[in-house]
Amino acid sequence: MNAWGLEEWENKVNADESLVTYQLHIILRQAQQVRVGRLSSFLFPAGYYLYTGSARRNLAARVRRHLSRQKKLRWHIDYLLMASATQVTAVGLFSETECRCNQRINGKILLAGFGASDCRARCGSHLKYLGNMAGISP
Ligand SMILES: [Zn+2]
Repeated sequence: MNAWGLEEWENKVNADESLVTYQLHIILRQAQQVRVGRLSSFLFPAGYYLYTGSARRNLAARVRRHLSRQKKLRWHIDYLLMASATQVTAVGLFSETECRCNQRINGKILLAGFGASDCRARCGSHLKYLGNMAGISP
């Protein structure tokens, strides 16, 4: 997987203009109830998540925004990233479209439509749950 640590990813973006898609590697350390914008409140189980998005311009600025907690909440993913038990551990970077990268992930869709308001490839959701692996209490 093309995933980079939080100190490395920005150098990768700056070094390769073909990159348009990012994937946030997210750990939710404990189950948490999160209100997701206009979607209803949802109990996210503890575990690993992958969120896939893209920015054809200013990819680095977009990812920096996701990593920052100082922002106005706008996208579905903003609400999950602001949850106290959430931590982004790595950033994947790709030249392919976000839907193609997202569809390659073998994960579960917990919340239909999450991050997929602009999706025309029927992904169902741009957030996928990879499950709860060892090391994280449920
Ligand atoms: Zn899609």
